[in-house]
Amino acid sequence: MNRRKRLLKYSAYLVAGLTFGFWLAAPNGGLKILSYTFGPSMALAQETPEVSPVKARERDTYYPNSEDLKPDEMRVIACGTGMPTTRAAQAAACFLVELGNGDKFLFDIGSGSAERISSLQIPYNYLDKVFIGHLHTDHFGALHDLFIGGALMGRNVPLRVWGPSGAVPELGTAYALDRMQEMLSWDLAGRAGNVDFRGYVMDVTEFNYKLENEPIYEANGVVIRTFPAIHSIDGSVSYALEWNDLKFVFSSDTYPNKWFVEYSKDADLVIHECFIAVPELVSKMKFTPESALQVGTQVHTAPEAFGKVMSEIKPRMAVAYHFFNDFDTVNGVYERIRSTYDGPLSMSEDFMVWNVTKDDIVVRMAATEERTWAPPLAAPAEAPKVEDKTAMAEQLGVETLDFSDFVASGVWDVEDVLRPIYEEASEAMGQEFPYPEKSEPK
Ligand SMILES: [Zn+2]
Ligand SMILES: [Zn+2]
Repeated sequence: MNRRKRLLKYSAYLVAGLTFGFWLAAPNGGLKILSYTFGPSMALAQETPEVSPVKARERDTYYPNSEDLKPDEMRVIACGTGMPTTRAAQAAACFLVELGNGDKFLFDIGSGSAERISSLQIPYNYLDKVFIGHLHTDHFGALHDLFIGGALMGRNVPLRVWGPSGAVPELGTAYALDRMQEMLSWDLAGRAGNVDFRGYVMDVTEFNYKLENEPIYEANGVVIRTFPAIHSIDGSVSYALEWNDLKFVFSSDTYPNKWFVEYSKDADLVIHECFIAVPELVSKMKFTPESALQVGTQVHTAPEAFGKVMSEIKPRMAVAYHFFNDFDTVNGVYERIRSTYDGPLSMSEDFMVWNVTKDDIVVRMAATEERTWAPPLAAPAEAPKVEDKTAMAEQLGVETLDFSDFVASGVWDVEDVLRPIYEEASEAMGQEFPYPEKSEPK
């Protein structure tokens, strides 16, 4: 994807940072770096730890599956920071929270985020809890990818999803996700009997969108609370997760509101939407000025308003998301935020990582694999069951899901080249895999 771009960016940082080291011979024969950093004060001379030509050093990049999560640590990874207008460089809203107690939670799962999640190589049984802030596709458009693809990649437990009610039942999470599963009828019917089917179950919890800082999830020392957001129409919420004296808050989408300001006070990591500045909405997104002003300041949170919210909340780290983070537009957003906020700030992009402990918040970028395969299984898989297909047929009110005579009549004979595959597998596994009675594909 954008590895080259990232590399270029880091090279730029390297040059722009005006940091260089003097290499000096150390008494132990290793090397020591004495580096001088010329910041605004031009005065920081610091001695860095000894380095070795053969020993690994501490990294300033996060490589998934290379670091233990400490028992008191929270790690948050941006799996989507963009917009409903899709782009390869930024998926839509999705943040993964990983806790030192082993729990993991996804907050929003916008279009394109499932690929980001897969890059992290996390066993899918651990990615079974999703909290949706509202039902715009840039906040839940990849749910069916996680539902189906996650099960295919090893999740053999139900996918649990939480989301708000709406002003009427038809605008609530349960209505949307019931119909999403109906939409997937063909997909699910086509898989039943072919794979371990236990993961193809969605367990949906809809809660009242008017709850004000009420807990909707409590287990294993983790409490997740919800409070109303103001966005588009009734039925948007924000979330706060508390664990081990650490607090993570995620706005999903909202206009600045009293609930967020009150219930996010003094939190550790506060992620709040921050929309593209109005001039770029016109020049880059081709909005009319009327629509840019409406969407950029009234439907969403303008950068200046984001800054004002954060100045009131005073988080240990403020995270701005929901804007396209490009070299030629990020400064406009940044400067507008800085006109109203001067605290700690992350201008998020996909694969930004925050390691949060009581002592420190480390912000890094993850370097991820694009060509990922299924991660290890957290629990053993089961062989497919014919009963799953029978049950699916019953649920659909049809006699059978086997091919009709019409389609079966189209089979072209390749049995002679398929039989050896069964023989090869039987020999390799030391177990007899009988060839299916009928030669048509199952
Ligand atoms: Zn939205
Ligand atoms: Zn949005």
